[in-house]
Amino acid sequence: MALLPFYIPGRRRINVIIVGGGYAGMAVLTTLKQYASNVDITLVDPGAQHLKITHLHETFRYPLSDLLTPFSELEKRFNCRHIQASLTVNDAMLRQWQADRYLAVGNEILTFDYLVVATGGETQESEPATNVLTLQDFMHTAGSSLLLNHLGAVATEEPFISVVGAGATGIQFLFEIHQFLNRQKIKARLRLINASEQVLVQFPRGFDTYVQTLMRECCIDFAANTRYLGQTDQEILLEDKQSGNVTALPSHLTLLFLGKKQKHLWSANAFGQITIDHKILPHVFTAGDCSTYRSPGSNVQSAQSAVRKGKLIARNILRHSGLLKILEPYLHHDIGYVVNLGPTDAVGWLVTEGNIVTGLPALTIKEIVETQYDLLLMGIDTYVI
Ligand SMILES: Cc1cc2nc3c(=O)[nH]c(=O)nc-3n(C[C@H](O)[C@H](O)[C@H](O)COP(=O)(O)OP(=O)(O)OC[C@H]3O[C@@H](n4cnc5c(N)ncnc54)[C@H](O)[C@@H]3O)c2cc1C
Repeated sequence: MALLPFYIPGRRRINVIIVGGGYAGMAVLTTLKQYASNVDITLVDPGAQHLKITHLHETFRYPLSDLLTPFSELEKRFNCRHIQASLTVNDAMLRQWQADRYLAVGNEILTFDYLVVATGGETQESEPATNVLTLQDFMHTAGSSLLLNHLGAVATEEPFISVVGAGATGIQFLFEIHQFLNRQKIKARLRLINASEQVLVQFPRGFDTYVQTLMRECCIDFAANTRYLGQTDQEILLEDKQSGNVTALPSHLTLLFLGKKQKHLWSANAFGQITIDHKILPHVFTAGDCSTYRSPGSNVQSAQSAVRKGKLIARNILRHSGLLKILEPYLHHDIGYVVNLGPTDAVGWLVTEGNIVTGLPALTIKEIVETQYDLLLMGIDTYVI
Protein backbone atom coordinates (compact mmCIF):
# COMPACT_ATOMS: atom_id res chain seq x y z
CA MET A 1 0.00 0.00 0.00
CA ALA A 2 1.47 3.36 -1.02
CA LEU A 3 1.77 6.12 1.56
CA LEU A 4 -0.43 9.18 1.09
CA PRO A 5 0.92 12.38 2.66
CA PHE A 6 -1.44 14.10 5.16
CA TYR A 7 -3.56 10.97 5.48
CA ILE A 8 -3.96 9.29 8.84
CA PRO A 9 -6.81 6.79 8.44
CA GLY A 10 -9.68 6.74 10.91
CA ARG A 11 -10.71 3.49 12.53
CA ARG A 12 -13.70 2.47 10.45
CA ARG A 13 -14.08 1.38 6.82
CA ILE A 14 -15.43 3.91 4.33
CA ASN A 15 -17.98 3.41 1.58
CA VAL A 16 -17.52 5.19 -1.74
CA ILE A 17 -19.96 5.21 -4.66
CA ILE A 18 -18.53 6.23 -8.03
CA VAL A 19 -21.13 7.17 -10.64
CA GLY A 20 -19.55 6.79 -14.08
CA GLY A 21 -16.84 4.31 -15.06
CA GLY A 22 -14.94 6.39 -17.63
CA TYR A 23 -11.46 7.90 -17.31
CA ALA A 24 -12.23 9.96 -14.21
CA GLY A 25 -14.15 7.15 -12.50
CA MET A 26 -11.33 4.69 -13.17
CA ALA A 27 -8.76 7.13 -11.78
CA VAL A 28 -10.80 7.48 -8.57
CA LEU A 29 -11.16 3.70 -8.24
CA THR A 30 -7.50 2.85 -8.81
CA THR A 31 -6.19 5.69 -6.64
CA LEU A 32 -8.44 4.81 -3.69
CA LYS A 33 -7.16 1.23 -3.91
CA GLN A 34 -3.58 2.42 -4.22
CA TYR A 35 -3.63 4.25 -0.89
CA ALA A 36 -6.18 2.52 1.32
CA SER A 37 -7.30 -0.97 2.26
CA ASN A 38 -10.29 0.16 4.30
CA VAL A 39 -12.45 1.35 1.38
CA ASP A 40 -15.50 -0.39 -0.09
CA ILE A 41 -16.26 0.85 -3.60
CA THR A 42 -19.38 0.57 -5.70
CA LEU A 43 -19.22 1.65 -9.32
CA VAL A 44 -22.47 2.59 -11.06
CA ASP A 45 -22.33 2.66 -14.87
CA PRO A 46 -24.94 1.70 -17.48
CA GLY A 47 -22.34 -0.14 -19.56
CA ALA A 48 -21.02 -3.66 -19.04
CA GLN A 49 -17.51 -2.59 -20.03
CA HIS A 50 -15.12 0.31 -19.60
CA LEU A 51 -14.42 1.93 -22.96
CA LYS A 52 -11.06 3.52 -23.78
CA ILE A 53 -12.83 6.10 -25.90
CA THR A 54 -9.68 8.03 -26.79
CA HIS A 55 -8.86 5.18 -29.21
CA LEU A 56 -12.33 4.95 -30.80
CA HIS A 57 -11.20 6.25 -34.22
CA GLU A 58 -8.68 3.38 -34.35
CA THR A 59 -11.47 0.82 -34.80
CA PHE A 60 -10.88 1.19 -38.54
CA ARG A 61 -7.68 -0.77 -37.80
CA TYR A 62 -8.33 -2.76 -34.63
CA PRO A 63 -11.35 -4.60 -33.23
CA LEU A 64 -13.55 -2.64 -30.83
CA SER A 65 -12.99 -5.38 -28.24
CA ASP A 66 -9.36 -4.17 -27.88
CA LEU A 67 -10.73 -1.00 -26.27
CA LEU A 68 -13.09 -2.67 -23.84
CA THR A 69 -12.40 -3.92 -20.33
CA PRO A 70 -15.38 -5.71 -18.75
CA PHE A 71 -16.39 -4.16 -15.43
CA SER A 72 -16.60 -7.75 -14.13
CA GLU A 73 -12.82 -8.00 -14.68
CA LEU A 74 -12.26 -4.68 -12.90
CA GLU A 75 -14.43 -5.89 -10.01
CA LYS A 76 -12.02 -8.78 -9.48
CA ARG A 77 -8.89 -6.73 -10.09
CA PHE A 78 -9.82 -3.97 -7.64
CA ASN A 79 -12.14 -5.83 -5.30
CA CYS A 80 -15.07 -3.53 -5.95
CA ARG A 81 -18.67 -3.92 -7.07
CA HIS A 82 -20.21 -2.79 -10.35
CA ILE A 83 -23.91 -2.07 -10.69
CA GLN A 84 -25.08 -1.76 -14.28
CA ALA A 85 -27.40 1.22 -14.09
CA SER A 86 -27.77 4.84 -15.07
CA LEU A 87 -28.32 7.31 -12.27
CA THR A 88 -30.24 10.56 -12.72
CA VAL A 89 -28.20 13.33 -11.18
CA ASN A 90 -29.53 16.84 -10.56
CA ASP A 91 -29.11 19.62 -8.00
CA ALA A 92 -31.99 18.46 -5.83
CA MET A 93 -30.79 14.84 -5.80
CA LEU A 94 -27.25 15.89 -4.95
CA ARG A 95 -28.43 17.96 -1.97
CA GLN A 96 -30.64 15.09 -0.86
CA TRP A 97 -27.82 12.53 -1.15
CA GLN A 98 -25.45 14.78 0.80
CA ALA A 99 -28.02 15.00 3.61
CA ASP A 100 -29.11 11.31 3.57
CA ARG A 101 -25.81 9.59 2.64
CA TYR A 102 -27.76 6.98 0.77
CA LEU A 103 -29.21 6.68 -2.70
CA ALA A 104 -31.45 4.27 -4.56
CA VAL A 105 -30.26 2.33 -7.59
CA GLY A 106 -33.11 0.27 -8.99
CA ASN A 107 -34.62 -1.54 -6.01
CA GLU A 108 -31.49 -1.27 -3.95
CA ILE A 109 -30.59 1.33 -1.31
CA LEU A 110 -26.87 2.06 -1.17
CA THR A 111 -25.37 3.90 1.76
CA PHE A 112 -22.16 5.84 1.32
CA ASP A 113 -19.66 8.06 3.05
CA TYR A 114 -18.57 9.68 -0.20
CA LEU A 115 -20.20 9.98 -3.59
CA VAL A 116 -18.31 10.74 -6.81
CA VAL A 117 -20.10 12.06 -9.89
CA ALA A 118 -18.01 11.27 -13.00
CA THR A 119 -20.61 10.89 -15.72
CA GLY A 120 -18.59 12.55 -18.52
CA GLY A 121 -19.74 14.94 -21.22
CA GLU A 122 -22.91 14.76 -23.25
CA THR A 123 -22.52 14.76 -27.03
CA GLN A 124 -24.79 17.05 -29.04
CA GLU A 125 -27.94 15.26 -30.09
CA SER A 126 -29.09 15.23 -33.70
CA GLU A 127 -32.26 13.92 -35.30
CA PRO A 128 -31.74 10.26 -36.27
CA ALA A 129 -31.50 10.03 -40.08
CA THR A 130 -30.70 7.41 -42.69
CA ASN A 131 -27.07 7.25 -43.73
CA VAL A 132 -25.95 9.24 -40.69
CA LEU A 133 -23.54 7.92 -38.06
CA THR A 134 -22.63 9.53 -34.75
CA LEU A 135 -20.07 8.81 -32.04
CA GLN A 136 -22.65 6.61 -30.28
CA ASP A 137 -22.68 4.21 -33.27
CA PHE A 138 -18.92 3.75 -33.05
CA MET A 139 -19.21 2.86 -29.36
CA HIS A 140 -21.13 -0.27 -30.32
CA THR A 141 -19.68 -1.32 -33.69
CA ALA A 142 -16.15 -0.99 -35.09
CA GLY A 143 -15.63 1.77 -37.66
CA SER A 144 -14.46 -0.72 -40.31
CA SER A 145 -17.72 -2.75 -40.14
CA LEU A 146 -19.91 0.36 -40.07
CA LEU A 147 -18.24 1.83 -43.14
CA LEU A 148 -18.19 -1.43 -45.12
CA ASN A 149 -21.85 -2.14 -44.33
CA HIS A 150 -22.96 1.31 -45.44
CA LEU A 151 -20.84 1.47 -48.56
CA GLY A 152 -21.86 -2.08 -49.49
CA ALA A 153 -25.45 -0.89 -49.76
CA VAL A 154 -24.61 2.07 -52.03
CA ALA A 155 -25.04 1.56 -55.78
CA THR A 156 -22.90 4.57 -56.85
CA GLU A 157 -19.43 3.84 -58.19
CA GLU A 158 -17.67 6.63 -56.28
CA PRO A 159 -19.78 7.46 -53.19
CA PHE A 160 -19.35 10.63 -51.13
CA ILE A 161 -18.58 10.45 -47.42
CA SER A 162 -19.02 13.63 -45.37
CA VAL A 163 -17.46 14.20 -41.97
CA VAL A 164 -19.10 17.06 -40.08
CA GLY A 165 -17.08 18.78 -37.35
CA ALA A 166 -13.38 19.58 -37.34
CA GLY A 167 -12.67 19.21 -33.64
CA ALA A 168 -10.18 16.58 -32.47
CA THR A 169 -12.70 13.74 -32.85
CA GLY A 170 -13.83 14.69 -36.38
CA ILE A 171 -10.27 15.13 -37.62
CA GLN A 172 -9.07 11.84 -36.10
CA PHE A 173 -11.96 9.97 -37.75
CA LEU A 174 -11.43 11.79 -41.07
CA PHE A 175 -7.84 10.63 -41.51
CA GLU A 176 -8.54 7.11 -40.26
CA ILE A 177 -11.30 6.81 -42.87
CA HIS A 178 -9.00 8.17 -45.57
CA GLN A 179 -6.36 5.53 -44.76
CA PHE A 180 -8.98 2.79 -44.44
CA LEU A 181 -10.40 3.55 -47.90
CA ASN A 182 -6.88 3.44 -49.35
CA ARG A 183 -6.05 0.14 -47.63
CA GLN A 184 -9.34 -1.41 -48.78
CA LYS A 185 -8.88 0.09 -52.27
CA ILE A 186 -12.36 1.62 -52.04
CA LYS A 187 -13.04 4.50 -54.42
CA ALA A 188 -14.88 7.20 -52.50
CA ARG A 189 -14.75 11.01 -52.14
CA LEU A 190 -14.16 12.32 -48.65
CA ARG A 191 -15.19 15.80 -47.53
CA LEU A 192 -14.96 17.72 -44.27
CA ILE A 193 -17.63 20.22 -43.26
CA ASN A 194 -16.91 22.78 -40.58
CA ALA A 195 -18.61 25.85 -39.15
CA SER A 196 -15.40 27.92 -39.18
CA GLU A 197 -12.60 28.24 -41.71
CA GLN A 198 -10.01 26.87 -39.33
CA VAL A 199 -9.86 23.22 -38.24
CA LEU A 200 -8.98 22.26 -34.65
CA VAL A 201 -9.81 25.81 -33.49
CA GLN A 202 -9.27 24.98 -29.83
CA PHE A 203 -5.59 24.20 -30.52
CA PRO A 204 -2.64 26.39 -31.55
CA ARG A 205 -2.86 27.81 -35.11
CA GLY A 206 -0.05 25.50 -36.33
CA PHE A 207 -2.43 22.53 -36.02
CA ASP A 208 -4.75 24.08 -38.63
CA THR A 209 -1.91 24.78 -41.07
CA TYR A 210 -0.53 21.25 -40.76
CA VAL A 211 -3.90 19.53 -41.08
CA GLN A 212 -5.18 21.61 -43.98
CA THR A 213 -1.96 20.96 -45.94
CA LEU A 214 -2.36 17.25 -45.33
CA MET A 215 -6.02 17.39 -46.39
CA ARG A 216 -5.02 18.93 -49.72
CA GLU A 217 -2.35 16.25 -50.23
CA CYS A 218 -4.95 13.56 -49.50
CA CYS A 219 -7.51 15.20 -51.87
CA ILE A 220 -10.03 15.65 -49.03
CA ASP A 221 -12.55 18.39 -49.91
CA PHE A 222 -13.16 21.08 -47.30
CA ALA A 223 -16.40 23.03 -46.91
CA ALA A 224 -15.42 25.77 -44.46
CA ASN A 225 -17.78 28.30 -42.80
CA THR A 226 -20.57 25.86 -43.49
CA ARG A 227 -23.39 24.75 -41.23
CA TYR A 228 -24.85 21.24 -41.36
CA LEU A 229 -28.65 21.39 -41.66
CA GLY A 230 -29.54 17.75 -42.21
CA GLN A 231 -29.31 14.67 -44.36
CA THR A 232 -31.86 13.32 -46.77
CA ASP A 233 -31.48 9.86 -48.30
CA GLN A 234 -28.37 10.53 -50.43
CA GLU A 235 -27.79 14.25 -49.94
CA ILE A 236 -26.46 16.52 -47.25
CA LEU A 237 -28.06 19.92 -46.68
CA LEU A 238 -25.64 22.72 -45.95
CA GLU A 239 -25.86 26.42 -45.25
CA ASP A 240 -23.13 28.88 -46.11
CA LYS A 241 -22.63 30.87 -42.91
CA GLN A 242 -21.79 34.11 -44.68
CA SER A 243 -24.38 34.22 -47.47
CA GLY A 244 -27.04 32.06 -45.83
CA ASN A 245 -27.36 30.10 -49.11
CA VAL A 246 -28.57 26.53 -48.68
CA THR A 247 -27.17 23.82 -50.94
CA ALA A 248 -27.64 20.08 -51.22
CA LEU A 249 -24.57 17.98 -52.03
CA PRO A 250 -24.38 14.25 -52.69
CA SER A 251 -23.47 12.36 -49.52
CA HIS A 252 -24.02 8.63 -49.28
CA LEU A 253 -22.76 8.52 -45.72
CA THR A 254 -22.49 11.39 -43.23
CA LEU A 255 -20.62 11.21 -39.94
CA LEU A 256 -21.56 13.78 -37.30
CA PHE A 257 -19.01 14.87 -34.71
CA LEU A 258 -20.72 17.98 -33.42
CA GLY A 259 -18.90 18.18 -30.10
CA LYS A 260 -20.26 18.35 -26.60
CA LYS A 261 -23.25 20.19 -25.27
CA GLN A 262 -23.07 20.07 -21.51
CA LYS A 263 -26.40 20.22 -19.74
CA HIS A 264 -24.93 19.31 -16.37
CA LEU A 265 -21.56 20.79 -15.64
CA TRP A 266 -21.10 20.38 -11.91
CA SER A 267 -19.35 23.22 -10.20
CA ALA A 268 -16.78 22.24 -7.58
CA ASN A 269 -14.40 23.98 -5.22
CA ALA A 270 -10.63 23.60 -5.64
CA PHE A 271 -10.72 20.26 -3.78
CA GLY A 272 -13.34 18.69 -6.10
CA GLN A 273 -16.33 18.94 -3.71
CA ILE A 274 -19.53 19.93 -5.53
CA THR A 275 -20.93 23.35 -4.70
CA ILE A 276 -24.56 24.27 -5.31
CA ASP A 277 -25.69 27.87 -4.77
CA HIS A 278 -22.32 28.57 -3.10
CA LYS A 279 -22.87 25.76 -0.56
CA ILE A 280 -20.28 23.00 -0.43
CA LEU A 281 -21.48 19.40 -0.37
CA PRO A 282 -18.52 17.99 1.60
CA HIS A 283 -19.27 14.33 0.87
CA VAL A 284 -20.09 14.70 -2.82
CA PHE A 285 -17.19 15.05 -5.27
CA THR A 286 -17.03 15.36 -9.05
CA ALA A 287 -14.36 14.79 -11.70
CA GLY A 288 -13.89 14.57 -15.46
CA ASP A 289 -15.76 16.21 -18.34
CA CYS A 290 -18.89 16.82 -16.24
CA SER A 291 -17.01 19.01 -13.77
CA THR A 292 -15.59 22.48 -13.56
CA TYR A 293 -13.39 23.36 -10.60
CA ARG A 294 -12.92 26.84 -9.20
CA SER A 295 -9.14 26.57 -9.09
CA PRO A 296 -6.11 27.52 -11.19
CA GLY A 297 -6.04 23.95 -12.64
CA SER A 298 -7.20 22.96 -16.12
CA ASN A 299 -10.91 22.42 -16.76
CA VAL A 300 -10.24 21.28 -20.34
CA GLN A 301 -12.41 18.34 -21.33
CA SER A 302 -9.61 15.86 -21.88
CA ALA A 303 -8.76 12.40 -20.65
CA GLN A 304 -5.63 13.80 -19.05
CA SER A 305 -7.55 16.32 -16.95
CA ALA A 306 -10.21 13.72 -16.15
CA VAL A 307 -7.56 11.35 -14.79
CA ARG A 308 -5.81 14.09 -12.79
CA LYS A 309 -9.10 15.29 -11.26
CA GLY A 310 -10.08 11.70 -10.47
CA LYS A 311 -6.75 10.99 -8.78
CA LEU A 312 -6.95 14.24 -6.80
CA ILE A 313 -10.43 13.64 -5.45
CA ALA A 314 -9.57 10.07 -4.46
CA ARG A 315 -6.71 11.46 -2.35
CA ASN A 316 -8.99 14.16 -0.94
CA ILE A 317 -11.73 11.65 -0.07
CA LEU A 318 -9.23 9.63 1.94
CA ARG A 319 -7.85 12.71 3.67
CA HIS A 320 -11.33 14.00 4.43
CA SER A 321 -12.19 10.64 5.99
CA GLY A 322 -8.97 10.60 8.03
CA LEU A 323 -7.88 12.40 11.15
CA LEU A 324 -6.11 15.45 9.68
CA LYS A 325 -8.62 16.54 7.02
CA ILE A 326 -6.04 18.55 5.08
CA LEU A 327 -7.17 18.62 1.45
CA GLU A 328 -5.11 19.31 -1.66
CA PRO A 329 -6.18 21.90 -4.30
CA TYR A 330 -6.39 21.04 -7.99
CA LEU A 331 -3.50 22.64 -9.88
CA HIS A 332 -2.95 20.32 -12.84
CA HIS A 333 -2.33 21.69 -16.33
CA ASP A 334 -2.18 19.42 -19.35
CA ILE A 335 1.38 19.17 -20.62
CA GLY A 336 0.42 18.40 -24.17
CA TYR A 337 -2.26 17.11 -26.52
CA VAL A 338 -1.79 15.01 -29.64
CA VAL A 339 -4.32 14.57 -32.43
CA ASN A 340 -3.88 11.43 -34.56
CA LEU A 341 -3.92 11.85 -38.32
CA GLY A 342 -4.19 8.21 -39.30
CA PRO A 343 -1.83 5.42 -38.25
CA THR A 344 1.43 7.12 -39.29
CA ASP A 345 1.00 10.81 -38.58
CA ALA A 346 -0.12 13.12 -35.80
CA VAL A 347 0.07 16.74 -34.69
CA GLY A 348 0.37 17.90 -31.12
CA TRP A 349 1.84 20.33 -28.64
CA LEU A 350 4.18 19.46 -25.83
CA VAL A 351 5.01 21.42 -22.64
CA THR A 352 3.97 24.79 -24.15
CA GLU A 353 1.33 25.42 -26.79
CA GLY A 354 4.01 27.02 -29.00
CA ASN A 355 5.98 23.77 -29.16
CA ILE A 356 4.29 21.88 -31.97
CA VAL A 357 5.34 18.33 -32.75
CA THR A 358 4.29 16.26 -35.74
CA GLY A 359 4.90 12.82 -37.24
CA LEU A 360 6.74 10.15 -35.30
CA PRO A 361 7.63 12.26 -32.22
CA ALA A 362 3.94 13.20 -31.84
CA LEU A 363 2.86 9.57 -32.25
CA THR A 364 5.41 8.47 -29.65
CA ILE A 365 4.09 10.99 -27.10
CA LYS A 366 0.56 9.76 -27.68
CA GLU A 367 1.71 6.17 -27.25
CA ILE A 368 3.38 7.01 -23.90
CA VAL A 369 0.27 8.77 -22.60
CA GLU A 370 -1.98 5.87 -23.61
CA THR A 371 0.38 3.30 -22.06
CA GLN A 372 0.34 5.25 -18.80
CA TYR A 373 -3.44 4.94 -18.72
CA ASP A 374 -3.31 1.21 -19.59
CA LEU A 375 -0.95 0.71 -16.66
CA LEU A 376 -3.28 2.64 -14.35
CA LEU A 377 -6.08 0.24 -15.30
CA MET A 378 -3.74 -2.59 -14.30
CA GLY A 379 -3.23 -0.92 -10.92
CA ILE A 380 0.22 0.51 -11.73
CA ASP A 381 0.40 4.27 -11.25
CA THR A 382 3.19 5.88 -13.31
CA TYR A 383 1.76 9.42 -13.26
CA VAL A 384 4.35 11.76 -11.80
CA ILE A 385 2.14 14.87 -11.97
C1 LIG B 1 -12.64 9.78 -30.34
C2 LIG B 1 -12.11 10.53 -29.14
C3 LIG B 1 -10.75 10.73 -28.98
C4 LIG B 1 -10.27 11.41 -27.87
N1 LIG B 1 -8.92 11.56 -27.76
C5 LIG B 1 -8.43 12.18 -26.66
C6 LIG B 1 -7.01 12.29 -26.47
O1 LIG B 1 -6.23 11.87 -27.34
N2 LIG B 1 -6.56 12.87 -25.35
C7 LIG B 1 -7.40 13.36 -24.38
O2 LIG B 1 -6.91 13.87 -23.36
N3 LIG B 1 -8.74 13.27 -24.52
C8 LIG B 1 -9.27 12.70 -25.64
N4 LIG B 1 -10.64 12.60 -25.78
C9 LIG B 1 -11.50 13.19 -24.74
C10 LIG B 1 -11.64 12.18 -23.58
O3 LIG B 1 -12.07 10.95 -24.08
C11 LIG B 1 -12.61 12.69 -22.51
O4 LIG B 1 -12.18 13.95 -22.08
C12 LIG B 1 -12.63 11.70 -21.34
O5 LIG B 1 -13.18 10.47 -21.75
C13 LIG B 1 -13.43 12.27 -20.16
O6 LIG B 1 -13.47 11.32 -19.13
P1 LIG B 1 -14.75 11.21 -18.18
O7 LIG B 1 -14.45 10.14 -17.20
O8 LIG B 1 -15.13 12.53 -17.69
O9 LIG B 1 -15.93 10.75 -19.14
P2 LIG B 1 -16.11 9.40 -19.96
O10 LIG B 1 -14.80 8.77 -20.26
O11 LIG B 1 -16.99 9.77 -21.11
O12 LIG B 1 -16.90 8.45 -18.97
C14 LIG B 1 -18.18 8.73 -18.49
C15 LIG B 1 -18.78 7.43 -17.97
O13 LIG B 1 -19.96 7.74 -17.25
C16 LIG B 1 -20.97 6.84 -17.59
N5 LIG B 1 -22.25 7.53 -17.36
C17 LIG B 1 -22.77 8.52 -18.11
N6 LIG B 1 -23.94 8.91 -17.59
C18 LIG B 1 -24.16 8.15 -16.49
C19 LIG B 1 -25.20 8.09 -15.53
N7 LIG B 1 -26.27 8.89 -15.59
N8 LIG B 1 -25.12 7.18 -14.52
C20 LIG B 1 -24.04 6.35 -14.45
N9 LIG B 1 -23.02 6.39 -15.32
C21 LIG B 1 -23.08 7.27 -16.34
C22 LIG B 1 -20.71 6.48 -19.04
O14 LIG B 1 -21.27 5.22 -19.36
C23 LIG B 1 -19.18 6.45 -19.07
O15 LIG B 1 -18.68 5.18 -18.79
C24 LIG B 1 -11.16 11.93 -26.89
C25 LIG B 1 -12.54 11.73 -27.04
C26 LIG B 1 -13.02 11.05 -28.16
C27 LIG B 1 -14.50 10.84 -28.31
